[in-house]
Amino acid sequence: MKSDVLLENYLKVLKLPAFLKEYQQTARQCGEENKAYEEFLLVLAEREVAAREQNAMARRLREAGFPTEKELSNFDFTAVPKLNSKRILDLARCEYMEKTENIVFVGSPGVGKTHLAIALGREACRRGKRVKFFTACGLATAYAEARAEREAKRFEGHIRNRHLVVVDELGYVPLGQGASENLFNFFSQCYERTSVIVTTNLPFSEWPQVFGDERMTGALLDRLTHRVHVIEIDGNSYRLRDSLRRREEGGKENA
Ligand code: ADP
Ligand code: MG
Repeated sequence: MKSDVLLENYLKVLKLPAFLKEYQQTARQCGEENKAYEEFLLVLAEREVAAREQNAMARRLREAGFPTEKELSNFDFTAVPKLNSKRILDLARCEYMEKTENIVFVGSPGVGKTHLAIALGREACRRGKRVKFFTACGLATAYAEARAEREAKRFEGHIRNRHLVVVDELGYVPLGQGASENLFNFFSQCYERTSVIVTTNLPFSEWPQVFGDERMTGALLDRLTHRVHVIEIDGNSYRLRDSLRRREEGGKENA
């Protein structure tokens, strides 16, 4: 067999797709520039590593299951002047995860809580962290389904295996007893193992109404807020402002 066919077979067996794709062009280039063999290998090895990191990052983002692609770069901090942008940018460095700290975004609808939670989650994926996004209802349902299939342990293992879990929209809908218990178990599983970002429209004092049990909520808050960054966002709904602005612009265009 010809040596290049053999080589290509070996590169496939060794799972080195970037080598395979680029070795001919790199060989030509290194030849023209009189580079040493080591240099040739180094260039290819670097491309392989870069391609792997890129793939792993894309996989982490996919597996996290974010509903939208919100980023910090398209968050308008001037729209929420009371929000300390430096604090958010510091959190994007993910140091809170090393200390298993949590983040709670509290504020009325439309102020950007979900946007920031997703953006921090995506940034964590880029920094090599395993992340999972749920809505509070979705999490309670996923837990209940796992339980029904006697897979609760596996589900809990999956949660513990994440560096960060985002729980969006806690408090919008009162939870039934089963859902409350599942969420309580979830927060117990995460305690001191997995960081959690929660977004909620309710101050902590109103959480018992959502969970329907004062003592359980107390225990849950105790765990969640043991090490926590509470970020209150107040202001008018960006969503509402945005749609009013669009309507106004549309109106002008039509005039
Ligand atoms: P909340 O979760 O607080 O109800 P969202 O994060 O879902 O609000 O925000 C509603 C919409 O407005 C989203 O499309 C979001 O991207 C956008 N949005 C909110 N605040 C900002 C902001 N400061 N800059 C840019 N977009 C924003
Ligand atoms: Mg939201």
